[in-house]
Amino acid sequence: MIYLDYPASTPLDPAILARMLPYFSQDFANPHATQHEMGWQAEEAVFQAQSQLAAAIQAKPQEIIFTSGATEANNLALFGLFTGRGSLAAAQSPAPSEILLSGYEHESVSQAAHMLAYSHPAIKVKTILPLAAHRSEGGSEGVRLPSGRITPSLLAEHLTAATKLVSVMAVQNEFGTINPIAELGALLRQRGIVFHVDAAQALGRVDVAHFADYADLISFSAHKAYGPKGIGALYLCQNSALTLQPLVVGGGQQHGMRAGTVPVPLVVGLGQAASLATARYRDDESRIAVLAARFFDKISQAWPDLVLHGLPLSDSSAPVPQRVAGILSLGWNGVRAADLLPTLAKHVAVAAGSACHTARLRPSDSLLALGLRPDQALASLRIGLGRMTTAAELETAADWLIAVRQAVKSL
Ligand code: PMP
Repeated sequence: MIYLDYPASTPLDPAILARMLPYFSQDFANPHATQHEMGWQAEEAVFQAQSQLAAAIQAKPQEIIFTSGATEANNLALFGLFTGRGSLAAAQSPAPSEILLSGYEHESVSQAAHMLAYSHPAIKVKTILPLAAHRSEGGSEGVRLPSGRITPSLLAEHLTAATKLVSVMAVQNEFGTINPIAELGALLRQRGIVFHVDAAQALGRVDVAHFADYADLISFSAHKAYGPKGIGALYLCQNSALTLQPLVVGGGQQHGMRAGTVPVPLVVGLGQAASLATARYRDDESRIAVLAARFFDKISQAWPDLVLHGLPLSDSSAPVPQRVAGILSLGWNGVRAADLLPTLAKHVAVAAGSACHTARLRPSDSLLALGLRPDQALASLRIGLGRMTTAAELETAADWLIAVRQAVKSL
């Protein structure tokens, strides 16, 4: 089996596992047990992990709130900001409060925003589409969009006096676009608008070192960066004077921001993942870029109708990288991805569309937001490369893709 689904999850790095293991056994104490030495040691491990993640983004350890993953971090950011006493939605004022999202945020951001709007008449949600996708009665007419990148000028066009929060992901999980977080953040700082960044796919792929200088809230997930599943974090800038309403209440742990015993082995894993991401992202990206280009060339030779959604693989004229190398959304004509998957699934792990409960595929919202028609979105696969991907694996995976599509076409 060849694994090319790294944006969905990554294998746990053995060095990270080694650091986690003692906290499952001999160092098992509750980090909130402040009456004894074993509790203090567990608390110290939690502080270390906070410090490691904070160091990756130049923040302070106490600005890190651990959550169960990026989904919960995103929910905490949005529900936390717009409910409770510190709500950004003006309680008595009839003026609306707008949440502005990119058109291809993860569902844990977009659904949270839409739920807020549903339950609070004063909250409105607006989305930024990089170029307007024309929608007709029968679905999306689709203008194919070159970019999928939120630029400062695009953001500025969508801001209004009512905009209270902007949420833009750092790296898009389906087509790999990198958004210019520093520039977007600088613009929002000038206007005093709160900025949330979903960095779930950014850790380990791009330079996140100055994110805390530009964003008020940042979401992370360990299992996307060679850490364990079930742990993530939300950075909350202390200088921003923002107050969040917690989602989980009880024993008041984590300064009341997220009750429940902090899972020490998992947070140790997240801390290590953050440190390793900082140390390795450059080397990983440059190695993956070479592999991805070779893989794409091989498939394009076999399939002349192949398109890469979003931005081209390498654009040497761009002063900073505008896409990551290892997240490729490939599209072609005719054959639906769902017809390739039954055979492919046993040999190559890739992703197609958005799986729903019935395991039927529906077109990905993010690809539709990029301007694709539903039939184009359904004739697409996401190939996700990672640290352990080899050239030999990609050769074999390309052979499989080429053979399977040929077989389905000739049925
Ligand atoms: N945001 C993005 C951009 C993601 O890709 C994902 C995972 N697919 C999440 C949030 C959710 O992360 P988690 O699995 O940690 O809840």
